[in-house]
Amino acid sequence: MTPLAQILRAEIATTGPMRLDAYMAACLMHPRHGYYSTRDPFGEQGDFITAPEISQMFGELIGLCLAQTWLDQGAPNPVALVELGPGRGTLMADALRATRGVPGFHDALQVHLVESSPALRARQAETLAAHAPTWHDSADTLPDLPTLSVANEFFDALPIRQYQRQGDGWCERVVGLSDDTLALGLNAKRIEPTLARRLDDTADGDIVETCPAAAPVIDALARRIASHGGAALIIDYGDWRSLGDTLQAVQGHDRADILAAPGLADLSAHVDFEALTDAARGTCKTTRLAPQALFLSRLGITQRAEALAGNMSGHTLDAHYAAFHRLTGREEMGTLFKAMALYPEGAAPPPGLEP
Ligand code: SAH
Repeated sequence: MTPLAQILRAEIATTGPMRLDAYMAACLMHPRHGYYSTRDPFGEQGDFITAPEISQMFGELIGLCLAQTWLDQGAPNPVALVELGPGRGTLMADALRATRGVPGFHDALQVHLVESSPALRARQAETLAAHAPTWHDSADTLPDLPTLSVANEFFDALPIRQYQRQGDGWCERVVGLSDDTLALGLNAKRIEPTLARRLDDTADGDIVETCPAAAPVIDALARRIASHGGAALIIDYGDWRSLGDTLQAVQGHDRADILAAPGLADLSAHVDFEALTDAARGTCKTTRLAPQALFLSRLGITQRAEALAGNMSGHTLDAHYAAFHRLTGREEMGTLFKAMALYPEGAAPPPGLEP
């Protein structure tokens, strides 16, 4: 049993079953035993691999997209270049390298990172030392400036709640104990006013998910974008509206049981982009969802891939084409992953996300 499983068992034994969002938060961010707090999980050696770790092209294109947005909005100076959940800092490093030639951009920007993991902050500090980033525990403390931000696979790591429909009510799924081991259970049925509209598109027994931590982050970004300009790119796996149990554990590139090894496996859930859009409504504009393949091809990934391929041969070239395919292939990340953006009223949407 993992040390965190022991802690959670003791807690549940005294205070009763635990909500899934509390369980997920403990598994990912417990100060001593949380999955992200203690390790760098990325890459072939780690548990999973993300788009910026697959190819430099991903961060480069995101950087150019944000720099073009900056130019389109009149090149404000100063401007905050923000990343939420920057992992190893690879995306930001690639974005900064690709935009060095954009006149005035680097002189105007300040790099701000929202990251809760001390282990990953240390890693980001190495990768981005030349750009003197400022770290934040949450989006609330970001500066009041024009804000160009990106979040790749950040929202899928935010803790979720799950509810199972029963008639016109909902039973929340919780983590309890069965024979002294962690087990999923259901709370008593309640009427959930916030889920009222889900009675129209669900049937008895269906599960829906909510992510209470997402709306405050969107709100913090949307307010800055509405008052000062900028844009927020959100890229993640998920779809327009959550339906079904999407909470998954991954360990060593394989699916695992979500209760088996708390703190040792990554936990994530599909992002409900409708909920993100709702959270921005009335504050700033949002684009439609674009599949990652469409977004990246509109930004010119094919031309970039060909240009890079010109200097490659042998294994390097094979790996490069495999990476291109992994980012854009229909059976790979091309359609499961989606992109959307927040942007100000009266401005053009960021390149790649035009209607
Ligand atoms: N964007 C990176 C990493 C994705 S993993 C990439 O694409 O490779 C999720 C990242 O979000 C990690 O850096 C993790 O530590 C961070 N994170 C997760 N939950 C967070 C929270 N509640 N607040 C701040 N950072 C968080």
